[in-house]
Formats: sequence, C-alpha cells, structure tokens
Amino acid sequence: MKRAVYPGSFDPVTKGHLDIIERAAALVDELIVGVLNNNAKIPLFSVEERVNMLVEVTGHIPNVRVESFSGLSVDFVKSCDARFIVRGLRAVTDFEYELQMAQTNRSIDRGIDTLFFTTALQYAYISSTIVKEVAYYGGDISGFVPESVAGHIRRKVSEKQRENKV
Ligand code: ADP
Repeated sequence: MKRAVYPGSFDPVTKGHLDIIERAAALVDELIVGVLNNNAKIPLFSVEERVNMLVEVTGHIPNVRVESFSGLSVDFVKSCDARFIVRGLRAVTDFEYELQMAQTNRSIDRGIDTLFFTTALQYAYISSTIVKEVAYYGGDISGFVPESVAGHIRRKVSEKQRENKV
C-alpha cells in the first residue's frame, strides 16, 4: 500500500491546497491530509473546524482521509504507516524552508521521502493568510477557496469582528 501524508495548517483549506490534494491522491493508494494542531500559531479556525472543511471539500476523492495531529510530522507519518510527505511549492520563497524541512525529516527518518508538487499557476499566489486578510476587509474570496469554505470564512470573520467591537 503506497501511502502519503500531506501535512499543513490548512487554516483554511484553499483551492491551491485542493489542487495539490487531487494531484497527490492520483499518485498513491491513500493520501492522508494531516491537520497540524500547532500551539505556536493562533489559528482562525479550530483544528476540528479545519478538519471538517477538508472533509467537506475532498468528499469526491475516495482515497483521501483527513486527520489531525500534533507534534512532529515524521512521527505522524510513521504512525500512519506512510513513507511519503507531500508538500506544495508556490515560489522560490517556499523553497528554502521546504528544502530544510525535507532534509531535517529525512535525517530523522531515512525511510521517509518528501514529494514536492509545483503549484498550479492560477493558485500560486494564494495563501491561507492572504485569503483571511481579503475576507477581513470584505473582499471577494470566491476565486481562492471552495464555495463552502468561503461561507465558513465569512461567518467566522464577522463573528470575530463583532467580538472585537464589544
Ligand atoms: P504550513 O503552515 O505547514 O505552511 P499551509 O496550510 O500554509 O501549512 O500549507 C501546507 C502546504 O501546502 C505547504 O507545502 C504549502 O507550500 C502548500 N500550499 C499552500 N498554499 C498553496 C497553494 N496556493 N498552492 C499549492 N500549494 C500550497
């Protein structure tokens, strides 16, 4: 069984992430999307909300499973009995960090390799951070995220804006 893990924050999932998920899932028997529960970052969405959105938008891909994890990616990959880590490269700015991460992970476990996908050109500039910022100022995010996710972002952002006014 060829199994890969696509780890990330996915706060929230974008069309760029989804494109990588579809392409990676076509290469392996099973792709596990691992949603990182990272204490160092304060996310807009809870880990459960991020998992639920991913489940919603990957329902059409039968060999994709979504799970949350905390701690080191390599430990999660091993616990899934997987051999590959999937990551996306948007631009040269991603490259240095991603190369360092891939080499670190391989030095921790020689049995694990990282597969890089270059992003689809039309999504190369999209990041979860940019999407949140555009939404915060009332811009149109429908080109950046799947429709159901856009609804969740709008609701969450207006919730936060109301909280901040009180
Ligand atoms: P992290 O916090 O680990 O960077 P992200 O959720 O931002 O998590 O990204 C997870 C992975 O998806 C990374 O490999 C990142 O480069 C990739 N990625 C992010 N945005 C896009 C995009 N627009 N197109 C393709 N890949 C992307």
